[in-house]
Amino acid sequence: MADINIENIDIKDIINDPIISKEDMKIYYENYFPYDNFFTWLGKDDSEIFERREFSFTMSDDRYFRFQCFKNSEELKKQICKLIPKKIDIGAIYNIQPNMKGDFNDDQRKFTPVQKEIVFDIDLTDYDDIRTCCSDAKVCDKCWKYMIVAYQILKTILEEDFGFNHILYAFSGRRGIHCWLCDERAKVLQNDGRTAIANFIKYKMINIKMNASQGLKLPLHPSIERAIKIIENVFEEYILIGQNILNYEKGKNLLESIIKAYFIKNDDLINNKIKPILNNNNYNSVMKFNEIKIILNKYENDNNKNTNKNKYNRADLVIKDFELNILYPRLDINVSKHINHLLKSPFCIHPKTGMVSVPLRETDIINFTMEKIPKLEEIIIDHKNGKKNSKFFYFKGAFDEFCKKLKNNQ
Ligand SMILES: [Zn+2]
Repeated sequence: MADINIENIDIKDIINDPIISKEDMKIYYENYFPYDNFFTWLGKDDSEIFERREFSFTMSDDRYFRFQCFKNSEELKKQICKLIPKKIDIGAIYNIQPNMKGDFNDDQRKFTPVQKEIVFDIDLTDYDDIRTCCSDAKVCDKCWKYMIVAYQILKTILEEDFGFNHILYAFSGRRGIHCWLCDERAKVLQNDGRTAIANFIKYKMINIKMNASQGLKLPLHPSIERAIKIIENVFEEYILIGQNILNYEKGKNLLESIIKAYFIKNDDLINNKIKPILNNNNYNSVMKFNEIKIILNKYENDNNKNTNKNKYNRADLVIKDFELNILYPRLDINVSKHINHLLKSPFCIHPKTGMVSVPLRETDIINFTMEKIPKLEEIIIDHKNGKKNSKFFYFKGAFDEFCKKLKNNQ
């Protein structure tokens, strides 16, 4: 049933044993990691702020050091070049220097996080139940489209609904995007404010097994209406053609369960009209989708005379619900809710792929391919030949631009 897509990139197959030596990491940390930008980004070029920021380091033997802190970019560089961590995480700004927390934890002076960027994590593995081209760690250009739409919807919510301006997006190193919301009024929010934003963004998806009767409630929230407009522009190209979703059980089952949620006790419609189309092997997904739209609308016009009160009838809602279920951003929302949650730093090297977690401009997200992402081994080869790695510096440029804008607005 499923044809095998030869374009799939299995990172594990390509880099069967990533060549990430400590020597290469040391060259990278000594010559390429952008410490000065980190001082601007995480400490507003102010030692008093920067030294209260938590860094954590994961070593190559998996030892883990939390609550590290530094006065300035020179100190940060010195320690990173000495330890050569395989991973660096960024935490909150605390009320005191994090490495002094043991001295201050009495009733009067409690060790407390006071500021941190709100972070979002979008990972393609959360789309596995609707991806047909790849699964697990595999990523290809076809399924990166899920990331593009997630980015576009998340961006409009953060910019238009909340008015945020300083948003840093970065490749997670393997199969997704991290988003750092860096506006001052976002950074000072405590857990309740973060949770409110996260819950606003989270679209309550139909849980097929738990509660099939929960559908979209009218009127639709303007933010959902806007997300639907974004999705409708690309749904046919990305999902019906790109994923051929209705020729796979996962897509068929999802659409059927949504139809059942809106057309409760309409067994004749489901069994005698919808199922034969879904299971028609001569139809591709575009044909199935269009045919089902026509059938649902006809059924609604023939059987439900009360629909003109609402902007959308049940047929419209089935279609919108299906599209949202597939393309609305799937966020690991727990990452966003807590001020003290650590997230992997941009410019880390992913230990399995050797790829740099580079910051991404909008055009980089939309035109993304794995080949464009710099790998440690490429940087080192160029370094040893006395050359600058152009891929790395292209993305470093994105970080420079972001930090410069942030600085000008402080
Ligand atoms: Zn794929």
